[in-house]
Amino acid sequence: MAANEVYASKFGRLGSLPMPPGRGFAILTCMDARLDPAKYAGLSEGDAHVIRNAGGRASDDAIRSLVISYKLLGTKEWFVIHHTDCGMETFNNEIMADLLESSLKSASIDASGWHDNGKGTGSIEGKYINWLTINDREQSVIADVLRIKNCPMVPPEIPIFGYIYDCRSGELIEVPAATRAGAPS
Ligand SMILES: [Zn+2]
Repeated sequence: MAANEVYASKFGRLGSLPMPPGRGFAILTCMDARLDPAKYAGLSEGDAHVIRNAGGRASDDAIRSLVISYKLLGTKEWFVIHHTDCGMETFNNEIMADLLESSLKSASIDASGWHDNGKGTGSIEGKYINWLTINDREQSVIADVLRIKNCPMVPPEIPIFGYIYDCRSGELIEVPAATRAGAPS
């Protein structure tokens, strides 16, 4: 709240920005706390849509946001940006379902994988969810670009670019096969 007070005190002209993103693009990326899309892509308020979820995956809800992004707010280019050392590479659907079934406490990870720490009642609901985990980083970018590209509500002229953000260097590295898959047609 203290930080917000300082931010709001210098808000100035930002209070009159238009709703459509000024630079006309959208980014789909991971919620990982180490990623700051405004910094890694040089964004200011009003510049771009940033859609985030675990993994930066093309989930139904991410696609919902992207469709709104172009249909109602005019974006013309999209970027799918996954990253190195993503937590989504550390488990799969079965592991997540088992951890949730074991308990609702936070689990922990060590060299041999995830372990549940809680005792008592968990939930079997995790078995019914596709957690959209990642086992090959480049393939996940390609798959998500393709899923978005193949969505019948997405116009063929929107280019979709695929990138991997390197958590060690801060660099964005293109996945050429993803960008080819997302080329306008
Ligand atoms: Zn991640």
